[in-house]
Amino acid sequence: LTGYVGFDSITSQIEKKLLKRGFAFNLMAVGRSGLGKSTLVNTIFASHLVDSKGLLKISENGQPIQTTEIQSISHIIEENGVRLKLTITDTPGYGDQVNNDNCWEPVVKYIKDQYSSYLRKELTPTRDRRITDSRVHAVLFFIAPTGHALTPLDIAVMRRISEVANVIPVIAKSDSLTLEERASFKKRIKDEIEFHGIRTFPYADVFVDTEDDGQPLNDDERAERQLINAVRDVIPFAVVGSERNVVVDGKAVRGRRTRWGVINGIDGFVENEDHCEFVALRNFLTRTHMQDLIDVTAMVHYEGYRTKQLMALKG
Ligand code: GDP
Ligand code: MG
Repeated sequence: LTGYVGFDSITSQIEKKLLKRGFAFNLMAVGRSGLGKSTLVNTIFASHLVDSKGLLKISENGQPIQTTEIQSISHIIEENGVRLKLTITDTPGYGDQVNNDNCWEPVVKYIKDQYSSYLRKELTPTRDRRITDSRVHAVLFFIAPTGHALTPLDIAVMRRISEVANVIPVIAKSDSLTLEERASFKKRIKDEIEFHGIRTFPYADVFVDTEDDGQPLNDDERAERQLINAVRDVIPFAVVGSERNVVVDGKAVRGRRTRWGVINGIDGFVENEDHCEFVALRNFLTRTHMQDLIDVTAMVHYEGYRTKQLMALKG
């Protein structure tokens, strides 16, 4: 007898189970009209889709159709046996009206509606063992590449949404800024976000228990802290989207021809990598922080909503 009972196989048992049930990830795009929201969300996962036209409707001439209502589209994508149900929610641009008071309401309502439907399913006695998760895990918030500052409307909308979901700010159409302009714009946006006390993902304070408990960071914690800091440094990601192919070295690749050459975000090949943080954003969403986004949505945002609703029921 060696005393070995084999419980170390639990990790592979868990893995099998998780693989079987698959994962769901729900991403939303928010921002003023014409900033390239539809284009970018099409671009992010396009290479994974059989239909390379992307997730959202594109008109005959390849131009995105102007978005007039909140629209969700799901696709199952598969990579090395891992199935991901990806839902992308595109929203109409805000700020087009004469009166933009409360223009964030439809978006906030959509996000809360998903919490509400999840809660209802959770409270059903005969609930399914697994509830379909339509909760929005990440909101890409598009900032116009003005090079100046956030508008008061941007600040108001970002604040409202950050109260109910994980907000990730991005600088839209960043091909229109020079590197210098982009660097100072980034700094300015960061300062403003901090000044206005808007919480964007990943939250710095999710990971601060360290010094008070007298325990030094262990290696994992240190690595995680470093990753979060590195990511917080890049945010807001300066992105470029493209719905059409351009020819590079005789090969058609998806990209955008700019003053600085071709930017190709799809294959991770970027002629001048400095000019586009598209790949960094995609890695952040898919490789490093997808599970975090899902967990924080469930444990922070949904939990907050749930508590409020249940308190209201009682009171
Ligand atoms: P939405 O209103 O935010 O959904 O914006 P669309 O995706 O409909 O794009 C509006 C226009 O901007 C289209 O003509 C796109 O081809 C163009 N566009 C999208 N992304 C970029 C980008 O990164 N750079 C530039 N220069 N143009 C873009
Ligand atoms: Mg659109």
